[in-house]
Amino acid sequence: MHLIQSATFKLTLWYLGIIMLLSILFSFALYRLSYDQMSTNAVRQINAVERLPLPPEFQAQRDSYVQSLVDQLNSGLHKLIYRLVLLDLATFLIGGGGSYLLARHTLQPVEDAMEAQGRFTADASHELRTPLTAMRTEIEVALRDKQLTATEARSLLASNLEEVNKLEALARGLLRLARAENTLDPAALETVSVRGIMAEAASRFQTELADKKMILDVEVGSEYVSGDKAGLIELVCILIDNAIKYSPEGSRIAVRSSLAGNSVAVSISDQGVGIKAADLPHIFSRFYRADRSRSKDKVDGYGLGLSIAKRIVDLHRGTIAVESTPGEGSTFRIKLPA
Ligand code: ADP
Repeated sequence: MHLIQSATFKLTLWYLGIIMLLSILFSFALYRLSYDQMSTNAVRQINAVERLPLPPEFQAQRDSYVQSLVDQLNSGLHKLIYRLVLLDLATFLIGGGGSYLLARHTLQPVEDAMEAQGRFTADASHELRTPLTAMRTEIEVALRDKQLTATEARSLLASNLEEVNKLEALARGLLRLARAENTLDPAALETVSVRGIMAEAASRFQTELADKKMILDVEVGSEYVSGDKAGLIELVCILIDNAIKYSPEGSRIAVRSSLAGNSVAVSISDQGVGIKAADLPHIFSRFYRADRSRSKDKVDGYGLGLSIAKRIVDLHRGTIAVESTPGEGSTFRIKLPA
């Protein structure tokens, strides 16, 4: 965070510099105005006194009166300078504090983004290291074993392949996330039918649905949204994929859509394990997985899906929300501009 500290310091100096420049210019202007006014007054008074027809014996008194007027003018100007310097000093102190607070406030989002980036890199490397460490240990143990049989070698390779598949899935997730991080390409925007998106997404899950004897019940209207078709299909696929992953065999997933004012509302409900209230606020964060400790019926994943989904929805200026009852199921609701 050294970078942020030095940036805060520099920005504070810039803000303070601008404040002080304005303050000093203001002081000069005030000084000039007051100087002109005070000296014009004094000159007028002196001229008036000097024009008085006085006998010569009063000459000394007149001179001393004129002198006192000049002294008054000088002391008035000194007092003015003293006050202006005090004012500038106060501006320096208050402005310095204010500038620091303003600089911190300005740089806070940058600091937050850098922190999130750092956390993301740490999480990503941790997730990458875990399968690598598992593979390395298995290979090392196998290499030390002089009597390793062909069957054992095959089982080792099979286990390694599993880890490689996990790494591949992680790399794919990271790539999808990086792609979703970028802004929507205006050239890729088109009018997409909700029915078309659902049909395409549903066709990708035929095998998984059949394997788990699940039913994907899609009942959508003829709504259209404006967006990036590939991104929207990916969004729906993430939600259907989760609904399948976190639901028991033989359960049902319902997909519905409706027009709500200027938006199209799409809901995807499952009869799965549900999400605990404590996890709900975090499930859209990168690498967050609810119930990591649950070892039986463990579901593979890296906690990237919903953060990608959220990013796609944000890029389309939509909203995504979830309602869930543990043990009963979850409903994800998306709203997209029609
Ligand atoms: P992943 O599924 O790879 O763990 P996601 O970002 O897609 O990552 O989901 C984050 C977490 O939210 C999951 O680990 C899971 O605990 C929870 N979750 C997401 N969708 C569902 C769902 N339909 N039912 C139950 N839990 C879900």
